[in-house]
Amino acid sequence: MENYQCKKCNEIIQSEGTPRSGHCPEGQSHEWRELGEVGSDVCQCKKCHEIIQSEGSPRSGHCPEGQSHEWRELAEVGDTNYQCKKCAVVIKSDRAPRSGHCPEGMSHDWRKL
Ligand SMILES: [Zn+2]
Ligand SMILES: [Zn+2]
Ligand SMILES: [Zn+2]
Repeated sequence: MENYQCKKCNEIIQSEGTPRSGHCPEGQSHEWRELGEVGSDVCQCKKCHEIIQSEGSPRSGHCPEGQSHEWRELAEVGDTNYQCKKCAVVIKSDRAPRSGHCPEGMSHDWRKL
């Protein structure tokens, strides 16, 4: 399985091989960009704050905030929910995720749920 993101509407889906172009809410059909293999690393883009699960660092692809994504690895997927006190994002990890880059300023401030 790989992660794909539409360059136009920014939807991210997991697919085995290139997804169908289908219908893009931004007009005509989706334009998929491959972001790499789905895996156990939780990564967040520093610019658009999108989170994906990837095997190692995802590809740079196309970032809605300009040019390419800048991924930061936050954690390995686990069973415990951690929420950032500032931006409220929740990720599943066995231990506290890395601080990374929080959209609300500076770094994420994680607490166990
Ligand atoms: Zn689209
Ligand atoms: Zn991005
Ligand atoms: Zn945060």
